Amino acid sequence: MGTIYDLIILGAGPAGLAAGLYGGRYRLNTLLIERSQDGGQIAITSDIENYPGQMVEAEESGATLIARMTKQVEKFGVHRVSAAIEKTELEGPVKRLIDSKGNVYEGKTVILATGAHPRPIGCRNEKDFLGKGISFCATCDANFYEDMEVYVVGGGDSAIEEAIYLTKFARKVTVIHRRDQLRAAQSIQEKAFRNEKLHFMWDSVVDEVSGDGILDRMVVRNVKTGQLTEVLADPDDGMFGLFGFIGYLPNTGLLEDSGLAMENGYIRTDEDMHTNIEGVFAAGDVRVKSLRQVVTAAADGAIAACQAEHYVADMQ
Ligand code: NAP
Repeated sequence: MGTIYDLIILGAGPAGLAAGLYGGRYRLNTLLIERSQDGGQIAITSDIENYPGQMVEAEESGATLIARMTKQVEKFGVHRVSAAIEKTELEGPVKRLIDSKGNVYEGKTVILATGAHPRPIGCRNEKDFLGKGISFCATCDANFYEDMEVYVVGGGDSAIEEAIYLTKFARKVTVIHRRDQLRAAQSIQEKAFRNEKLHFMWDSVVDEVSGDGILDRMVVRNVKTGQLTEVLADPDDGMFGLFGFIGYLPNTGLLEDSGLAMENGYIRTDEDMHTNIEGVFAAGDVRVKSLRQVVTAAADGAIAACQAEHYVADMQ
């Protein structure tokens, strides 16, 4: 018979890594499963200045913060597996997670920390231009647009902060926002309006993108007047960049038939991270909550691991 872990954590973003740290320190036999790289959305975030103790001035980034979290988890003896889980059986005293190769991982408790992914822009032909002009990560792709023109869709904190970041590379950055005022925090807005490289297309959405293998044309629609504007790449550049920052969608596709209580695709928990299934907890951006930040994800992970420890202790 294979190992039945005390705790299996699915997802190695800030929530999963914090859960791993606490699980390891509680001496739970813990397995942390991640399908790609640690850190989730944070690994590709340039400046994080609102995580306590993290200083942008000290050249910290999302990646450096995550690297320290990963190292800390390893120190406490957490087992690691790189696998894409495709199926879950969460009811009953032994929970099962099955990966794309058919491997089965068994645990007495599970913490779901699968996070969220960027919401697509929603325009025609979007998929054809992913990585060929369309991006959801300024940190990853900003340098491709050195001295070029870039468009940013969205009006929240992420869109405006990333638009400001992109002005360090692009010669002109235009924010396309569906309303006539931004949702971003006042302090971020003030910074944006002071930036001479930043421009705005208000009440606007992108309807369609096109190009010969690379993005060089899009159609923007004014939602109030219905007027369509054709945006073309500068012939000298041959293309432009289009970045989407319009919120996130939960990574809960594999949990659809799991019996978990959900709300708009997010997992419902109580304030101690219990889901409606005994021994199953959720932490971080994947759960219903009011503030999705690294600091709240890490806190969720710690609480979930603490509750998992109580649950395992009560089983004995
Ligand atoms: P957000 O605050 O939900 O903003 C999403 C933006 O996208 C809004 O401006 C929204 O427009 C727009 N939008 C949504 N769906 C759209 C669609 N289908 N088409 C066009 N536009 C659409 O998301 P976020 O900026 O990613 O931030 C997520 C959370 O992280 C927030 O709580 C935010 O405060 C936080 N955050 C904080 C910081 C920071 O403190 N430094 C940095 C980044 C994120 P409407 O305004 O019209 O709804």
